[in-house]
Amino acid sequence: MVDLLKDAKYIKGVGPNRIKQLNKLGIYTLEDVITYYPRGYENRGIKKKIAELVNGEEALIEAKCVSKMAEIKIRKNMSIYKLIVRDETATCTLTWFNSFYLKNKFKIGETYKFFGKVKRSINTIEIMTPIFDEKDENKNTGRIIPIYPSIGELPQNSLRKIIENALTEVEGKLPETLPDYLIKEYKLMERNEAIKNIHFPENFSKYNEARKRLVFEELLIMQLALLTLKNNYDKTIQGIKFKKEAKMYDMINSLPFKLTNAQIKVLEEIDKDMESKKTMNRLLQGDVGSGKTAVAMVATYKAVKSGYQVAVMVPTAILAKQHYENFKNMLAKFDIKCELLVSGMTKKQKESVLDNLKNGKIDVIIGTHALLQENVEFNKLGLVVTDEQHRFGVRQRGVISSKGENPDVLVMSATPIPRTLALILYGDLDISIIDELPPNRQKIDTFAVTPSKEERVNNFIKQQINEGRQIYIVCPLVEESEEINAKSVLEIAQKYKNDTFKEYKVEYIHGKLNKKEKDSIMENFKNGKIDILISTTVIEVGVDVPNATIMVIENAERFGLATLHQLRGRVGRGKYKSYCILKYKGNGEQTKERMKIMVETNDGFKISEKDLELRGSGEFFGTKQHGIPEFKIANLFQDVEMLKNIQSLAIKIINEDSKLESDKNKKLKKQILKTLTERIEI
Ligand code: ADP
Ligand code: MG
Repeated sequence: MVDLLKDAKYIKGVGPNRIKQLNKLGIYTLEDVITYYPRGYENRGIKKKIAELVNGEEALIEAKCVSKMAEIKIRKNMSIYKLIVRDETATCTLTWFNSFYLKNKFKIGETYKFFGKVKRSINTIEIMTPIFDEKDENKNTGRIIPIYPSIGELPQNSLRKIIENALTEVEGKLPETLPDYLIKEYKLMERNEAIKNIHFPENFSKYNEARKRLVFEELLIMQLALLTLKNNYDKTIQGIKFKKEAKMYDMINSLPFKLTNAQIKVLEEIDKDMESKKTMNRLLQGDVGSGKTAVAMVATYKAVKSGYQVAVMVPTAILAKQHYENFKNMLAKFDIKCELLVSGMTKKQKESVLDNLKNGKIDVIIGTHALLQENVEFNKLGLVVTDEQHRFGVRQRGVISSKGENPDVLVMSATPIPRTLALILYGDLDISIIDELPPNRQKIDTFAVTPSKEERVNNFIKQQINEGRQIYIVCPLVEESEEINAKSVLEIAQKYKNDTFKEYKVEYIHGKLNKKEKDSIMENFKNGKIDILISTTVIEVGVDVPNATIMVIENAERFGLATLHQLRGRVGRGKYKSYCILKYKGNGEQTKERMKIMVETNDGFKISEKDLELRGSGEFFGTKQHGIPEFKIANLFQDVEMLKNIQSLAIKIINEDSKLESDKNKKLKKQILKTLTERIEI
């Protein structure tokens, strides 16, 4: 048996220096080394004759050395090395820079393999800085070569060598981690072969088989791990049964608007969960403005009328205040007492809130991360609502829940996430979707403009302000930066305040201001005392100023589509026609396509699907923030079909053997436990 947990420093080729570099990549053990998968491959296996070489291509030749290495000093510390080689078709010059160690490497009359980029003109053929092998060797050339992800100071060749040494060490000795019945049924490649071929594929068909097996395994284990969590919530713990007599409709009928069918459908799902004895763990998804808060209020009503307290946790103090006002306004008539808890409050205010929360005089507490603190204690916490979930991790959800006895949990996300991705990120949650906006919502007209339209945009802004409206301008940066060529809040504020919009009231806000300053600026904007608010994405989440009608986004090309959509959702919240203006730079195809999507669609789900397609799941809001790790090999976009199959397979496995106690699932159970402890923060 190989010891996979062996320190990577004992692998052949790893010295004290290399181990440090490996550690930086998150590689500590032998297992880490062999599961550090390539990000791509280069086919150095297709041999060509010199006469056939094409300018600009990368190619492999096998040729005889016909000259001594020539050293040409071009200046101090700078030499070019040239070698002439020949095959039966033509002669070729090989060129290296400063490669002193190559001086006596090649012997006249011997044959070698060379791989590199071809430079061909009418009468010369050259290969630049070729990689080489002895005639009968296949170390660097002659095969499919793995390229590893961002490896810092560690050269590809060295890392490749280390991984190859590690593979030699484990060759044929890796224990199978998937049960036989799955390997047979899904015709999966055996583990030893898969690991070998994912690094050094014999050919591309073997590579495909290897990848399929490893992706299958990774997705299955993650899905099973998440389902196991869900199952635990369901069965082993008794949840709260909220009262049937606490009727949601008593509250619904008092709302100033008629709920949409989608809101009602979702509330029915929530009601069912709340009345059952299982603990609700539900993700409520809905586009910006779809009315999630109203849904949360109704659920809150039911919980309080059943004798429980409710905690509503949101990511920013601004949002907490706004929710607090809304909840208070809607719930006061039912004699439900709401309070706010954010970190900017005085000690006295805080103490009084904490006391009243503990002795049960407060029914609903609305706050930020401050709610997670140890000194926050409840009398009888029954429902936890978290808004804008992507800012909180799995673990934080757990912390707040632990302040009650298995309270129901409702997670709201304004970030429409493609269903498939939601299955992964929230596999431990049931999902409800509000797929309809309240009626009479006006479409927000979106324009993507280049800097040449600057003046027209500014005139349009002035016109809107003159009509009494307000404007948001969002920039990617707070301050000017030397490295990043993008607009900053301070730079624009300076210009707009003193020049472009000097006859208007211009203010700016960003994350580096202190809470008090931020709150007071937001307050003034809400009350119409500011015409133009320049900001970073701090206003991305939830803020509600119905009089704002234009959202201008500077350097829109720098934001993810999901973020742009969120930002756009800040306008069009009142009765006025609203606009989103995306100022972008650059001519890249991707930029143009992204802008086009924003102009053409207002549907958050479509936009997020597209974002995922264009940028890959790694970029998608940094999945790391969700408390669930990035995948080592699976790609949630590319592997969607597989993911769907795995999803049903995982459910089937759990239904047949909920605790995975049967003999045939032993291997799965072992891996799931490992995943739960190592990879999901629980
Ligand atoms: P979300 O949190 O999903 O972005 P909100 O709950 O903040 O959306 O709702 C946006 C606005 O729409 C709020 O002003 C809210 O009062 C209003 N609203 C919610 N539901 C309805 C509805 N069914 N009909 C009309 N207006 C609604
Ligand atoms: Mg909201």
